[in-house]
Amino acid sequence: MDLKQYITVVEDWPTEGIKFKDITTLMDNGPAFKSAIDEIVEYANTREIDIIVGPEARGFIIGCPVSYAMEVGFAPVRKEGKLPRETIKVDYGLEYGKDVLTIHKDAIKPGQRVLITDDLLATGGTIEATINLVEQLGGIVVGCAFLVELTYLDGREKLDGYDVLTLMQY
Ligand code: AMP
Repeated sequence: MDLKQYITVVEDWPTEGIKFKDITTLMDNGPAFKSAIDEIVEYANTREIDIIVGPEARGFIIGCPVSYAMEVGFAPVRKEGKLPRETIKVDYGLEYGKDVLTIHKDAIKPGQRVLITDDLLATGGTIEATINLVEQLGGIVVGCAFLVELTYLDGREKLDGYDVLTLMQY
């Protein structure tokens, strides 16, 4: 299926110059959403995944249906102050300023094989921070899967040495 036809490109949102890739018009189409998830499941099935990890909020939208289909668990990565039990954290750089991501300390057991999911690979900062959390807990990142990749932002350079699947490229 040509999935790109379901992505809506919104010019100058949230700020001037940004071409926002709106995935909601893919998600609200049942066959298109299923087809995208199926492609990621097919990829994940070749990699002996123990658990899926995704950053809030759109990483959940992609990761949870994959987790359900594969019958493996899903562990959320969230902004600071959102997870109720003991967490570990990582600071990461944003275009302007810094942010913090956290994960529950017991979410991943050492040696577990982890698939990371998100909607879109832009600069790669979010995924780099998510990988850092997984590796702090002793997890092995065996794949990273995204719907969309913005190739002009070179996010893949930050993921050198990791296996990356993207379903659509701009
Ligand atoms: P990054 O850390 O730069 O790889 O991007 C982090 C997140 O920002 C992505 O997972 C997307 O959810 C969002 N994002 C960044 N750029 C765009 C864009 N042009 N369109 C839609 N979402 C974006």
